[in-house]
Amino acid sequence: MPSSVTVRVPAKVNVQLAVGGRRADGFHGLASVFFAVGLYDEVTVSPADRLTVTVEGADAAHVPADSSNLAARAALLLGARHGVAADVHIHIDKGIPVAGGMAGGSADAAAALVGCDALWGTGSSPAELAGLAAELGSDVPFSLLGGVALGEGRGELLTPVPVGGTFHWVFAVADGGLSTPSVYGECDRLRDLAGGSAEADVPVPAADQALLEALRTGDAGALGAALSNDLQAAALSLRPGLAETLRAGADAGAIGTLVSGSGPTCAFLAKDAATARAIAAALRSSTVCRTAHVAEGPVPGAALMR
Ligand code: ATP
Repeated sequence: MPSSVTVRVPAKVNVQLAVGGRRADGFHGLASVFFAVGLYDEVTVSPADRLTVTVEGADAAHVPADSSNLAARAALLLGARHGVAADVHIHIDKGIPVAGGMAGGSADAAAALVGCDALWGTGSSPAELAGLAAELGSDVPFSLLGGVALGEGRGELLTPVPVGGTFHWVFAVADGGLSTPSVYGECDRLRDLAGGSAEADVPVPAADQALLEALRTGDAGALGAALSNDLQAAALSLRPGLAETLRAGADAGAIGTLVSGSGPTCAFLAKDAATARAIAAALRSSTVCRTAHVAEGPVPGAALMR
């Protein structure tokens, strides 16, 4: 058994997030185009007397260090499937904003699956890991896969999307997070005010063909124009200040702006790397966000480092 295994795993932004009506089971059908960006968590697993979790990074205080941590749940699930006691220490070096709409917890769960599988020599196939990932959460399968993919169902039924180039992003990190369930709840409330939030009241979510074409051809201008997020109105309703953040990024030269997933992180597409750096610098020197990061994509999913 190796003495430790480290896995690097990227954040995601949804370049399209089409949300259907609330289903009888309380979930929403989705057409979600996930895009993995080069903003990473590193998860290291090593043998221990019992399951423990430690977290480092700017947002570490907001991440649970017990068995409710998604990485710990992933280790327990993989261990249970293979009859292995999940006696591991999991250390998370967090670069992904917490509760920021960038799937940080899901990323750590995917990384823990890959890491523990290597540490224990359980030799799971990609399909087996994907099955466990879907049990852990709707965004976890994409964190394994990376690249760009269309997610249907609750987001876990993935089809890879071809991409013809590298895109340059800026992410404005807010003070404090937004809870994903509360943003869906606000989306339903706004829809009820406008006529209904049930499945029959809302168009069936579908991938935007213009957006897929922009990805295929690597056309940043067309992608910027096609970005869309059905949760954005709800995130802005809960955090009205985000409108100013979006405006500041556009004023600084972004060719596309949107709230990332359930927010409150705001995503800005730039025409090239130099413009991305300039947008990030402008945002950092403003008061509309806590900090801003530059990231390229698409990048691969959870991958062993050593
Ligand atoms: P998504 O984009 O998938 O909706 P998010 O990026 O908005 O998620 P996360 O960073 O995954 O949100 O965190 C949501 C909550 O999950 C946190 O507030 C935290 O309490 C809990 N959590 C559990 N495990 C983790 C983890 N490993 N990293 C971050 N948060 C975790």
